[in-house]
Amino acid sequence: MTSIGFIGLGIMGRPMAANLVKAGHSVSAFSRSQESRNAASALGIPVVESVRAAVETADVVISMLPDSPDVEAVALGDEGILASLGPGAGYIDMSTISPAVARRIAAAFRDQGYSVLDAPVSGGEAGAKEGSLSIMVGGDQGDFERWHKELGAMGTTVVHVGESGAGQTVKAANQLVVAGHLQMLAEAVVFLEAQQADVGLALSVIARGLGGSTVIDRKTAGVLEDDYRPGFRAELHHKDLNIVNDAARTAGLSLPVTSLVSGLVQSIVERGDGGLDHSILVSSARNANAAVNA
Ligand code: NAD
Repeated sequence: MTSIGFIGLGIMGRPMAANLVKAGHSVSAFSRSQESRNAASALGIPVVESVRAAVETADVVISMLPDSPDVEAVALGDEGILASLGPGAGYIDMSTISPAVARRIAAAFRDQGYSVLDAPVSGGEAGAKEGSLSIMVGGDQGDFERWHKELGAMGTTVVHVGESGAGQTVKAANQLVVAGHLQMLAEAVVFLEAQQADVGLALSVIARGLGGSTVIDRKTAGVLEDDYRPGFRAELHHKDLNIVNDAARTAGLSLPVTSLVSGLVQSIVERGDGGLDHSILVSSARNANAAVNA
């Protein structure tokens, strides 16, 4: 049994922490909002009242926070994880953040003798609940092996992809692929509806052929019901695509489809729909075509 401090009990963090409890670990969890803490308590996750209380007796601390500034503040700030961690403990950030920030955080922890990993995830809320996440891990091989069992309680695919920051680089590429798949699902739905096809039936066939994807498997039910409750908020995908575009610019790359879908996701956020699921791209494609054909 490992003593685990868990910070960030949102859509993803709650089921991930619940799976660590189920695997027999001793979890002390904290999240900033009272609502998240209450929802976590209701799932049987032991909740404490501060980052320090979650961290000080932990063997390893896991964070699952929205964005790079949140992770920097919680990891490196006064009363944060680094300031509160006991000797010999480890830190694993599983949020999706910029690879450069992940490397900076890793250096700060390593300088003080702590083991540290970046371990972002893919698989969405459903994968978090099932404990079937894909986890892409950056850091030293020894640190990866040390915390492999704990990561395995949350995911079925746990892969060491390189040094610190490499997990976030792979996750950025993952988000580029997901954005492309979603936009093509959106365009397929608009196309099928215009031909009066049975969209559910059509997607059930497409899903089993070369055009199939986890995006189709996971998002079709919501799309058919016009239900865009998150899931994965469009504003978080916007954040991730900014990470991709920044890294691509630095590397001098041209990624035309990524740029196009990034613009579409940005316009969703700008019109105030960033709190909805990223599959709202389907509704945007419908509206754009309705406007063209009006
Ligand atoms: P969320 O907004 O639902 O949860 C974030 C939680 O962090 C909230 O409960 C909030 O109270 C807490 N928090 C924020 N700032 C804090 C602070 N300073 N101190 C303590 N707690 C704080 O977000 P989410 O959907 O769970 O996503 C978390 C991360 O996982 C993001 O980086 C996201 O990009 C990534 N991710 C999300 C999904 C998904 O499908 N939702 C899938 C893969 C990866």
